[in-house]
Amino acid sequence: MKSNAFTGLWPTICCLLLVAGSGNAIAAPLRVGFAVADISPPAVYRIAGNYSEVMSDGVRDPLFAKAMTIEDGDAKACLIICDVCGHERGLTDEARAKISAKTGIPIANIAITATHTHGGPMHYDPVLLKLYRDRIGAKDDASDPVERASGYRKKFVARIVEAAVAAQKAARPATFDVGSIAVPGIAFNRRYFMKDGNVRCNPGKRNPGIVKVAGPTNDLMPILLATDAGSGKAFGCLSAFDMHTAVYGGSTFSACYPGHMQRKLCETYGKDFISIFGEGCAGDTNHIDVQIAERDPTSEIIGVKLSAKLIEAVPKLKPMPGPQLNVKRGTVAGRLRADRPKEYEVSRDRLIGEAAKKAEFLEQVEAYRILLVRHFRERHGDTVPLEIQAFRIGSDTAIVTLPHEVFVEIGMQIRRESPFPNTIIVTIANDVDCYVPTKKAFAEGSYEVTNSPYEPGIGEALADEAVRLLKDLAK
Ligand SMILES: [Zn+2]
Repeated sequence: MKSNAFTGLWPTICCLLLVAGSGNAIAAPLRVGFAVADISPPAVYRIAGNYSEVMSDGVRDPLFAKAMTIEDGDAKACLIICDVCGHERGLTDEARAKISAKTGIPIANIAITATHTHGGPMHYDPVLLKLYRDRIGAKDDASDPVERASGYRKKFVARIVEAAVAAQKAARPATFDVGSIAVPGIAFNRRYFMKDGNVRCNPGKRNPGIVKVAGPTNDLMPILLATDAGSGKAFGCLSAFDMHTAVYGGSTFSACYPGHMQRKLCETYGKDFISIFGEGCAGDTNHIDVQIAERDPTSEIIGVKLSAKLIEAVPKLKPMPGPQLNVKRGTVAGRLRADRPKEYEVSRDRLIGEAAKKAEFLEQVEAYRILLVRHFRERHGDTVPLEIQAFRIGSDTAIVTLPHEVFVEIGMQIRRESPFPNTIIVTIANDVDCYVPTKKAFAEGSYEVTNSPYEPGIGEALADEAVRLLKDLAK
């Protein structure tokens, strides 16, 4: 596979309209386009998924920004999912504005999300990037030698825009088939009640201190398959799964299991097929089975399993009735935790330099949160406007995008209360990867709660607003 940065768009974006204007065309009210752009960083660049500065030493497999555009007459929308760990609001705002200017799609109808691969570049984090730059006295992209050598951040935005524009150009009359398939035994809730009375995240294999698991999992993988209305050929799909994309961990860049899904699905549906995968509500779930001593599956094994399940599900998917695009956007005021300015300095030291090497993991997590709260407060004041988007695709199908890493229970609540039997939730939309626990988890503590910059109640507020938008769309 390609390993150089920015080597170009896949040929599939050149697909011509197959039935537009044809007298024999099957009526298809939606026009759907898929396209990808290579966003692989240079071989040596900062790598994400850590609380300290780690440099990469290669590209294991390429990273992509993948775009799906949907048009229904004048109504237009675009979902972009990138093989990165997270996003920063400034970057997504810039990309969305540029996409809107080039495609005519309203900014409110554009979502940019991340798969949350831990093999992605660290070009965005508002806290860590600032620390790394402060240490070397760099103020901006131009004075940061890592960035100056690559121009990556700028190219990253340009590539996202290219993917969206190419998807719109490639749009053709299409139909959707939709449904879900159970994929049991892969995802596990990673929070456990321990004998000492605490809750611990990933307490270790066969830890004798484990009493019981502290939360649920959701094994259902929703699938939305796009088929060319003229040729009847499937050309792209959106799927999502409520499990952390943190299976791969290494010093080379990798798209983790969504990358393996892409390769496997191309073997079945052809080389131009585009698999867009979104991390669902996975804040408290991952692939680690603490009940068994054996090693957990690799990102390749998981990617192969999920794609096999997806292929198995395709003949059972149902044609989506009532295709019609409508988008609603809502905002939830995320109340920030108290500021702790007296701890800024010690927090900084826990994340960078010699003191960082001695810091405990949870001390580092807390230090990161203290500085993230400061960043959000400087930008937004005491409440962060958290954006939620709901896309009605058909009478039984909607896509919801949520910011941050949302607990699985929140997604389950949204799906339970949604009027759309097929409600596909994609998280880490338009903003950074930090946690959104439930009220129950906030009371229990542990890793995700230590990381979250918000006051308790944020998760339930997101769920309520998402359901309100969905009900509005169903009217
Ligand atoms: Zn995470």
